[in-house]
Amino acid sequence: MKLNELWFDPSQLYIGGQWRAAGDRLPLEDPSTGAQIGEIARGQTGEIDAAVQAAEESRAGDWGRMTAAERGRILSRIGQLVLGRAEELAALEATDVGKPLKQARADVVALARYMEFYGGAADKVMGETIPYLDGYTVYTLREPHGVTGHIVPWNYPMQIIGRSVGAALAMGNAAVLKPAEEACLTALAFARLAEEAGLPAGALNVVPGLGEEAGAALTAHAGVNHISFTGSVGVGQLVQAAAARNVVPVTLELGGKSPQLVFADADLDKALPFLVNAGIQNAGQTCSASSRILVERSRYDEVVERMAERYAALRVGPARADLDLGPLISARQKQIVEGFLALSGEVTVAARGRIVSDAPQGGHYVAPTLLAGVAPDHRLAQDEIFGPAQVVIPFDDEEQAVAIANGTDYGLVAAVWSENGGRQMRLARRLRAGQVFVNNYGAGGGVELPFGGTGKSGHGREKGFEALYGFSVLKTVAAHHG
Ligand code: NAD
Repeated sequence: MKLNELWFDPSQLYIGGQWRAAGDRLPLEDPSTGAQIGEIARGQTGEIDAAVQAAEESRAGDWGRMTAAERGRILSRIGQLVLGRAEELAALEATDVGKPLKQARADVVALARYMEFYGGAADKVMGETIPYLDGYTVYTLREPHGVTGHIVPWNYPMQIIGRSVGAALAMGNAAVLKPAEEACLTALAFARLAEEAGLPAGALNVVPGLGEEAGAALTAHAGVNHISFTGSVGVGQLVQAAAARNVVPVTLELGGKSPQLVFADADLDKALPFLVNAGIQNAGQTCSASSRILVERSRYDEVVERMAERYAALRVGPARADLDLGPLISARQKQIVEGFLALSGEVTVAARGRIVSDAPQGGHYVAPTLLAGVAPDHRLAQDEIFGPAQVVIPFDDEEQAVAIANGTDYGLVAAVWSENGGRQMRLARRLRAGQVFVNNYGAGGGVELPFGGTGKSGHGREKGFEALYGFSVLKTVAAHHG
């Protein structure tokens, strides 16, 4: 793909309906080759100030005056335009993130579906009337926060923009989006399509740049009324501290160490693809990756063996080759993951996938690794690796399974594999997670399903209708009319 032949200029930022250059630029790398393929804008405090101002102006202008139905229609139109550019968007995301094309294509469909869902939902968020004292009519209104800041990571740019910016715009907020410095191309493409769909100037502003520059400037800005952050726990803590200074709400979507619990009565044929795919999708760089597989001891060896067979067949290569896994996003991420895998000297490596022989030398490839015999308190079973590695841990009974599953700092997703209905219901309640899957693993799937964490996985909910509540302020009106 040639970046100079795109339908937008990837080195620009988008502020107040204008495409412009930033004072400085950052290199853009293709993780499949390690080569620099272009440059992106390096937005800083000045650009963030301009973007917040443009967002405030749009709230006071055309965008703020639109009805909910009109907003919804524009979002739906963006969704159509996304589908019209599906192959180009998938190619962009695959190149930028390094993910296999088939995964990037699924992300495009998800982005379009978010626009469809939030387009349709925009005029269906209602308040309520509340019985009160004699002579009063009391009702509630859901109003936008105003300007919302969106800080997005590099692993699923399109999906995260869809769920976060889509919901914010549906409620009438004006958004300032700071995509990740490692992968911002589809954020810019999205802005171009939003412009084409008739989104008024300033309703969406995109400022690429470094986290500690553009990101920090956005979270510290007094004109931002809500912050939606998706990324690491450490940066999430900084974002929450910055938001506290301005007393604005934050949604934090952070990391995970999500378990799948496999009981002896589970349908293994059905479970196996989910057990493995949920660990290796996007080369394991997924917040809701299932990095811990907990198995009842009587079937432990069988599960390890059957997962190992699948691992041995996995192939890793450049995004364009469309294999099972692509490269990791960066040399730094590869170094972190290899650091974790070096700890595997203390455990059993049950199987590794294979990096294809013609994978470019400079790409950030790591072979997927299945680790068995890992103690539940081992770092490999506690820390988020954010790479293609899963640990398999045995348990003896339901009580122990719950204790191990709940025994990390995180609480994003969990799954139960069992044919026992009572156990399914019990564990759905007892597992500490924002989403529990029974006999499947959605890994964040389904735009309708509220998503978010507990513990260090974060707080607040995105996706579904719940996100619309998060991106709005509830106002109570109590009218006394005698
Ligand atoms: P990161 O926290 O380093 O970066 C995420 C975003 O924050 C980027 O846009 C970055 O530029 C920005 N940022 C960095 N420093 C900042 C600062 N000081 N102030 C403001 N913004 C700043 O995370 P990462 O390494 O890019 O992403 C991986 C992490 O994200 C993993 O922990 C993963 O689990 C998590 N994640 C969570 C979800 C979810 O929905 N829960 C989804 C995807 C990724």
